[in-house]
Amino acid sequence: MVAKNILVLGGGNGGTIISNKLRRELPEEKWNITVIDGDNRHIYQPGLLMVPFNLDDPRKIVKPRNKFLKPGVNFVQDYALLIDIESKKVTTKRGHVFPYDFLVISTGCSVQPSVDNGLEEAMGGNAFTFYTLDGAIALSKALKSYQGGRLVVNISSLPIKCPVAALEFSFLADWYFKKRGIRDKVDIEFVTPAPGIFAKPKAASVLTKIAEQKNVKVRTNWCLGTVNAQEKWIENIRGDERIEYDLLVSVPSTLGDESIRNSGLGDNKGYIPTDPHTLQAKGHGRIYVLGDASDVPTSKAGSAVHYQANVVARNILSEVNDSAPAPLYDGHAT
Ligand SMILES: Cc1cc2nc3c(=O)[nH]c(=O)nc-3n(C[C@H](O)[C@H](O)[C@H](O)COP(=O)(O)OP(=O)(O)OC[C@H]3O[C@@H](n4cnc5c(N)ncnc54)[C@H](O)[C@@H]3O)c2cc1C
Repeated sequence: MVAKNILVLGGGNGGTIISNKLRRELPEEKWNITVIDGDNRHIYQPGLLMVPFNLDDPRKIVKPRNKFLKPGVNFVQDYALLIDIESKKVTTKRGHVFPYDFLVISTGCSVQPSVDNGLEEAMGGNAFTFYTLDGAIALSKALKSYQGGRLVVNISSLPIKCPVAALEFSFLADWYFKKRGIRDKVDIEFVTPAPGIFAKPKAASVLTKIAEQKNVKVRTNWCLGTVNAQEKWIENIRGDERIEYDLLVSVPSTLGDESIRNSGLGDNKGYIPTDPHTLQAKGHGRIYVLGDASDVPTSKAGSAVHYQANVVARNILSEVNDSAPAPLYDGHAT
């Protein structure tokens, strides 16, 4: 008997959890489980928020990916380029072709500064992001030599992963500059396209008070149009309001993976239309979407991925046993 194939694209949070869960339940002689990820480093992303303030060591938040995968899960270091839904095959950057019986897409999302006018050119000069490992390390150096001025923490557009991380950064910056004894020389402003400081009203009212106590100015409903690194300002999308900065900490626009867009599976930002309850790709049998890659209306967060992985595992196991997938996911993220 030839074993069937469960193919998992992306071996981050979602890809790791689902592969290990399914490996526990499915016999190796009947089911191959293969994870494809082009990057062999598993980066613990919440640690990226700590790196700029020297509260975490970059070497400690990066581990080899296969350290987390159970024996019996195959790991292939390669990038998926194209998903052919008709023939149920995935072609990779190295030219390999992987057939699948079930496909789990967990390719996440990533910041793309080139999407925002002027931001890419500003990066590494007076603008930084802590959403990548290199960016977080560069920002820690920039903060160390910063002697004061206007620090603007800006989210370019929504959605982003970990929606609260930029606000946390602003609060940590208050602590960091106090510790360095130069808080009175730094103005901190948090600028977001969201209508409020936080989505949930009770938490929003508490966080607003904390921002006031910490003297962090909050500007909402502000969508980025342009970054001018030379003149050190950002302008809103309507072009009628500018904010000056000395140091810009940016969460650039975020997109789903290119392979999703190339395969015609994504919306205009590369997120996959996904049934919010069964977590199946809409209109595509035997394809499940897990985590940040989907358009499910919940937080793009590791905590949400954890709950979603339970549902995807249950539904794949149901289908393996010839039962229908069930609408089990309720948007849970905490
Ligand atoms: C600064 C920061 C702080 C955060 N803090 C928190 C927090 O406190 N709590 C929380 O719950 N969440 C937090 N998150 C969010 C959390 O890390 C993500 O939501 C979570 O990792 C999503 O899991 P995922 O599997 O969908 O994607 P990821 O874990 O990002 O994994 C995606 C994987 O897919 C791979 N990949 C992409 N494209 C391809 C391709 N074409 N072929 C093969 N492989 C591919 C990538 O290399 C990557 O390994 C934070 C994120 C950041 C950036």
